[in-house]
Amino acid sequence: MKFYSTNRQSPPVTLREAVMNGLAADGGLYMPERIPVIPRAFFNNISGMGIRDIAFVVADMMLGDDIESTEIRQIVNDTFSFEIPLVKVDKDISALELYHGPTLAFKDVGARFLARVISHYSASGGGGKGKVKVIVATSGDSGGAVAAGFKDVPGVEVYIMYPSGRLSRMQREQLDVPGGSVHAIEVLGTFDDCQRLAKQAFCDADLRREYEITSANSINICRLLPQMFYFFHAYASLLSSEGDSRCEVVMAVPSGNLGNLTAGLLAWRMGLPVKRFVVANNVNDVTVDYLNTGRFVPRRAVKTLACAMDVGNPSNVSRINDLFGGDFGPLSRLIKGYSYSDEDIMGWISRTYSADGYLLDPHGATAYAALHADIKPGEKGIFLATAHPSKFSRTVEEATGVKLGTLPQAEPSHRPVHPRISVSYEALKKILMSENNS
Ligand SMILES: *Cc1c(COP(=O)(O)O)cnc(C)c1O
Repeated sequence: MKFYSTNRQSPPVTLREAVMNGLAADGGLYMPERIPVIPRAFFNNISGMGIRDIAFVVADMMLGDDIESTEIRQIVNDTFSFEIPLVKVDKDISALELYHGPTLAFKDVGARFLARVISHYSASGGGGKGKVKVIVATSGDSGGAVAAGFKDVPGVEVYIMYPSGRLSRMQREQLDVPGGSVHAIEVLGTFDDCQRLAKQAFCDADLRREYEITSANSINICRLLPQMFYFFHAYASLLSSEGDSRCEVVMAVPSGNLGNLTAGLLAWRMGLPVKRFVVANNVNDVTVDYLNTGRFVPRRAVKTLACAMDVGNPSNVSRINDLFGGDFGPLSRLIKGYSYSDEDIMGWISRTYSADGYLLDPHGATAYAALHADIKPGEKGIFLATAHPSKFSRTVEEATGVKLGTLPQAEPSHRPVHPRISVSYEALKKILMSENNS
């Protein structure tokens, strides 16, 4: 399988190149040249299948030309080392709890899969260059997931940039993992600034001469592909709990960079019977505006309670447009959008706990609210619960009165100080070029 750039100014590449390049040379994002369609028969039996078996079938169809099936099986099994239950919240709506992994957020799935694919490729020959360097910008949860996903992968140095003051204490502490190969960098700017610096690093010829540079952001195709698996798994779980294969399914996605939505759309193109997708934004609702008006207008992100969705220029928009051949009509019919203020988010967390006894985190809350607004009689809704409520214990407690135990924290004296840089590529480059010890 080849992967093309959404900008179409660089030639299609192999899976290995797509994974290691992260971003195409023309600044575009990689997409699979073919989207295989799964035979209908698969969906007749899917309700009895576990997530690892489902993931293997889907992954083998996508990546089977490039990676041996036994290796794919191993990567998939290692990726899904935790449960992803579908939990009924009310009569027609269920939560897909993606947050039972090591850093309590869905980004564990993509990070674990990507780390294992990169490890597979660096073990099978690094092309004579120095170490593989992974560069990632995080607005919240992806940093910790990447840190945890890579900490045991040999031969790979990881650099994680985060916007100063925008991470919760737990999110920041999750960047500090043992081993010394994961480096956190505090950037005096926004997430979009971090993302821009990361993109500059990929395009830096000096750096590329010395190292094999790759990205672990949601722009990396191997972060995205494994996120398809749980859309199939959600459908399978719904069928097995409803015992009815004719239900019409609507899936809601709390969105920032639109990685999850893109993965859901890929699953749909592979044949997953989803009737409609619903996108939920916080007040950084560039995507919702786009769905309503057909005009995509990036803007500066502001801070909200659902901080992992504080994105002003969602990077996967080009992939989504590409999936529809740039045709806005069908896109806007398949995907509906809703946005929510912090006040709305508090209200939904509070109400859902009193009405259904279910604890939402601020991100999942937006998707639950959007599904409520959009679902029609006779339909079944699934929303992605992307982070564990205990990651946002203060907000959840304020909304519900429920005290959630926070996770154990590192001793203050052991907490490393992260280098702090202004929004300057030169400053980043200095760190990238110097940290080649070990
Ligand atoms: C990253 C993140 C999101 C946004 O996901 P995208 O795929 O970037 O749209 C939503 N919720 C949580 C908890 C996240 O960490």
